[in-house]
Amino acid sequence: MSMNEIKHYPCSSCGADLLFEPKDGMLTCPYCGHKEAIPESDGQVEEQSYEEHLSIRPEQMTALASNALEVKCQSCGATSIFMPPEVAGRCEFCGVQIVAQPKSADPILTPGGLLPFSVTQQQASDELKQWLSTRWFAPSGLKQFAQPEAIHGIYLPFWTYDACTRTDYTGQRGEHYYETETYYERDAQGNQVEHTREVQRTRWYPASGTVLGAFDDILIPATQSLSTDHLEALEPWDLVQLKPYDPAFLSGFKAQRYQIDLAEGFDLAKETMVPTIESDVRLDIGGDEQTIDSLDTNYYNVTFKHLLLPVYAGAYQFNGKVFQIVVNGRTCEIQGDRPYSVWKIALLVVAVLVLILLFVLVFSNR
Ligand SMILES: [Zn+2]
Ligand SMILES: [Zn+2]
Repeated sequence: MSMNEIKHYPCSSCGADLLFEPKDGMLTCPYCGHKEAIPESDGQVEEQSYEEHLSIRPEQMTALASNALEVKCQSCGATSIFMPPEVAGRCEFCGVQIVAQPKSADPILTPGGLLPFSVTQQQASDELKQWLSTRWFAPSGLKQFAQPEAIHGIYLPFWTYDACTRTDYTGQRGEHYYETETYYERDAQGNQVEHTREVQRTRWYPASGTVLGAFDDILIPATQSLSTDHLEALEPWDLVQLKPYDPAFLSGFKAQRYQIDLAEGFDLAKETMVPTIESDVRLDIGGDEQTIDSLDTNYYNVTFKHLLLPVYAGAYQFNGKVFQIVVNGRTCEIQGDRPYSVWKIALLVVAVLVLILLFVLVFSNR
């Protein structure tokens, strides 16, 4: 059965749409509780050739599901994809109520795999309530995040890249040697006294050569809707648990359309390879110190995977600024911005000052 033939998942017992249940990974009827397993795919999440996908052919693109809709947030520009009976609702990334009419989803480079949600909305919401209760000085408005509907399950788009590298370099190898240096100091009697000391010096030699490298599963977020800090803090993802893509996993959730394309993602991946390549080059140069003058890297056997990873996300506007909360849909770990209530902090400062004043008054009158 091809992805395009799957329309939706009616409950065989009552006809309602089945939703993916993170608790047991089954498609579950929200009305009668009937459960159906998502057919185990015997396929692996396969690495795909980067070269072959740079000029994408139409058959490499599909809608995430044949009945998928998409809608673009008029405020932050994020596009989310979902299937009925899901609705556009609030934007997960900026908190604005989406007013645009959803349209049928445009084809995208088909995801190779995903990590299904294993944390339920309720668990994420309970954890969030706990987290909020420990945020001092948060404005009272932040408490709206304690409502279960304040966050929503959405799959974020990622790329992973594998690559072999061959880097030609030029540079300098520094070797330390020591020289005895003579210097003078006045002693207690004011006489000039001669001393010697060992001084480290570096002799530089030109160096050049070639280093080979191999990189595996460099994970690059294809979303620009969350801060890099939050995205990095959500790691590590248990990518060994990846499942081949099946639209059934999306039932009841949204997915964000990638904002960084395959080639842009690979440019970012190259940047993350640089420190490793540089340290390999330094090892290859040897000596006590190294400078690198030029690096020329060729990439080959480049493969990639397009992945969807699960988070619960919500946003909150305060004083015209957007504050985001993200909960890892696998580990329940929370990353969030938190505004400080100037008012609450001011009250505390005043209270402390009053206490100090009272204290001073009491003790100065004794
Ligand atoms: Zn049912
Ligand atoms: Zn938005």
